Amino acid sequence: MLAHALLLAAAVATAPPTMRLDYIHTGNSAEEHFVLDGVALEGPWPGRLDRLIDDTNLGQYLFEVLDRKTNRLLYSRGFASAYGEWETTPEAKTQWRAFSESLRFPAPAGPVQVVVKKRDRQNAFREIWSQIVDPAAPEVDRSAPPAFKVWAVMKNGEPRDKVDLLLLGDGYTAAEMEKWHSDARRLTELLFAASPFKEHRSAFNVWAIDTPAEESGVSRPSDGIWRRSPLAAGYDAFGSERYILAFDNKRLRQIAAAAPYEFIEIVVNGRKYGGGGIFNQYATVASDNAFTPYVFVHEFGHHFAGLADEYYTSDVAYGPAAERLEPWEPNVTADPKAARWADLIAPGTPLPTSWPKEEFEKEQQDYQAKRHAIRAEHRPEEEMEALFRRGMELETKLLGAGPYAGKVGAFEGAMYEGRGYYRPQSDCIMFSRDPVGFCAVCRRAIERVIDLYATGK
Ligand SMILES: [Zn+2]
Repeated sequence: MLAHALLLAAAVATAPPTMRLDYIHTGNSAEEHFVLDGVALEGPWPGRLDRLIDDTNLGQYLFEVLDRKTNRLLYSRGFASAYGEWETTPEAKTQWRAFSESLRFPAPAGPVQVVVKKRDRQNAFREIWSQIVDPAAPEVDRSAPPAFKVWAVMKNGEPRDKVDLLLLGDGYTAAEMEKWHSDARRLTELLFAASPFKEHRSAFNVWAIDTPAEESGVSRPSDGIWRRSPLAAGYDAFGSERYILAFDNKRLRQIAAAAPYEFIEIVVNGRKYGGGGIFNQYATVASDNAFTPYVFVHEFGHHFAGLADEYYTSDVAYGPAAERLEPWEPNVTADPKAARWADLIAPGTPLPTSWPKEEFEKEQQDYQAKRHAIRAEHRPEEEMEALFRRGMELETKLLGAGPYAGKVGAFEGAMYEGRGYYRPQSDCIMFSRDPVGFCAVCRRAIERVIDLYATGK
């Protein structure tokens, strides 16, 4: 027993390096291809060595690392990708595009086969790419990461025992480093004010890297503003003015390699409302908007636990409910009985569950029209914030009323569809900007991911 325990302790103490496989993900709406871009070694593996296999069943994609000699599964993780979003846009019907992406896993002792799988319409994972990687190959990049300053915003233990969240600032000049440090601390406190992160604060480390920019701010194409910022994050991803993504993945990963990390939050220096979050890739948020706390926590929910958007109100051109496929995201379902989270539903709750849907939709029509007008006329950001505040007050009252407010059930209207998809509670931070936090189903999904990365030590 003792010898076994000692062996285990020794194995944990000598964490392998992190291996990063960079590839190009390319195609159009009809076909999809992967091309090897390179393999690099980073610092010590920052994760648990006793939870190498992903049992959370999250992600549109899944990658597996198999030992070449024995075919034994060494590591797996689910993930989503910008490509996976882009392939559903109209642009993908008329042309090809390429996206840089990376897979990270503990560096193996010998050659491995890395397999990428994608879900089919029945949610079964099917192989779409396979690549042999030999860790001894001379072309494996062993160069050190760039010499940016890495610092701990909050350190609660060794990276292997904790969830390691890395904050990266984009569009902060050298003269704004103090603002970056104060924004990093402020955002960290915002995240750990939200349940269930609040209760699991000690399971996390938060790291930050200082990456001074030549100019303040990031690119905002629809406002005619362009910046060559260090992480190349920018607004208007896929034509959505509030959607901030960082498409230069290789640059992002090379910088991030300076710190131990499992999750990345890119903070863009500026006031304009915006953000984004891709499961197991990274999330983004603008630093100085009145709704930064909401955007940050909401988008981090996408990135950290693969949570779906529960909102749907941009239009009401309802499709037939029969067409709805069960989503992989843990907080939405096509099942009006919500079997996925049945254990959280109190006996006697009607399924589907009633809520003031018509009233809500009526209010939303007026509200969305005003929102579009403010952006179309390039009105000051204060006007958008004021509109959001008025909407928030109305919705909080409306969604907080009725016999099933605050209860778990199956509330119709989720994932951009007014009919046929159901969310777990009438209100949640994945549904609205109301100060209600995550619903019970979202909280449970987040806790499962925390457990995958933190040991509880
Ligand atoms: Zn939720």
